[in-house]
Amino acid sequence: MSRDNFTKKTIETLKARVAHRCSNPNCRVPTSAPAEDNKVNNIGSAAHIFAASEGGPRPNNAISSEERKSINNGIWLCSNCSVDIDRDEKRYPPELLKKWKADAEAQARTELGQKLPSNTDAIDTVAAALTGMPKNIITHAISNVHQATEISLSRLDSRFHIKTQYIDGSTSIGIFAKENVPLALKVDAEYTQEYAKQHQMLIEHGSDVEISTNGLTIEGSKLFEEIIKEAGTFSISSPKKKAIQKLWLVQDDTNLIESFDDIRGEISWGTKSFTFNGSACDGIFSLSYNKEVNDGKQVTITMSLSTDSWEGLDIQHLPYFNKIFSFFDKMAEGWTLSTSLEIDGLNILNSKGMKVSTWDYVLDTNSFLHYVYRCKTIANRFNFQINYTSEISFTSDEHMNIVDIVEIIV
Ligand SMILES: [Zn+2]
Repeated sequence: MSRDNFTKKTIETLKARVAHRCSNPNCRVPTSAPAEDNKVNNIGSAAHIFAASEGGPRPNNAISSEERKSINNGIWLCSNCSVDIDRDEKRYPPELLKKWKADAEAQARTELGQKLPSNTDAIDTVAAALTGMPKNIITHAISNVHQATEISLSRLDSRFHIKTQYIDGSTSIGIFAKENVPLALKVDAEYTQEYAKQHQMLIEHGSDVEISTNGLTIEGSKLFEEIIKEAGTFSISSPKKKAIQKLWLVQDDTNLIESFDDIRGEISWGTKSFTFNGSACDGIFSLSYNKEVNDGKQVTITMSLSTDSWEGLDIQHLPYFNKIFSFFDKMAEGWTLSTSLEIDGLNILNSKGMKVSTWDYVLDTNSFLHYVYRCKTIANRFNFQINYTSEISFTSDEHMNIVDIVEIIV
């Protein structure tokens, strides 16, 4: 079998039918441009779909020599792609090449007489989204950007509905499956141990999983493949439930009771333990603890004060100061702490009569609050203003001096 070359006319027709561009849909480069001396720089070639000669790639003995060199057996490709398809016949079977050709010709048909997008068109589109041109000006800019993002992300996988939001300085992308979508999460060997450990913590204790996306691949959706490249951190949050922790103090010999503000927060739980995190008094007082499910053992409660909102204020008018001062004062004095945890109004966990007067945090905080309280007394007595600063530090000697002063003046 001799080589059945295409005629010059066939080659020109193949090239013109795809507007001088490579027919590989992943390539689509223009294949001709001007060269020196009014010549043409051509980087394309007419490739044979079925082999042009014996031993060539994609052989087919069932077709005649005429059919072999007919235009039906040709596809216009750039020089790189034409080499590629001959090197890897399995990856580029005749059926695929025929589809490329048909698609490239169809595209050339739609694009005929149309302006092709240029590099600046993308920028113009974003600018139009930002300004909502021509009429809506800046009021719609943000929602336009969100909408553009949602559309471009949904295009990656139409099985998902996308909702983007900008909350507290970060963009959140909600991905909602419209149908069951099987996805496979693969963790690279070097991250397997870390992921397994965190995953176990999620199941057993409800702790959130946080792992770098460098070690992850999600297979089954182009959308997730793209998003995970950008994300940086992949996290799985445990389900959280709103909860209210109630606290009150009891003075044992008198049975006097003092209730503290409700601590509003949430619990996350696993098969072995659950965790409560919450705050009261406008975020100034926080409380958290972790409790094992099948263990009656007393839990360790962590309390903390965040006095940022007091910064710079006149110490006579610190929000919630009196309430917090009284609470710590009584705990340090020996009043016992009782607690009850409520979810949806149902009491699910109680503890009674906890001795907290020996806790370092209670004693330290009580001492700090007494220092502020004594400064208030002095400022009040001498009628001058002291503003609160979190940078105060004092030695116990300095505190004793304040105690002495207060004793003299009151
Ligand atoms: Zn190409």
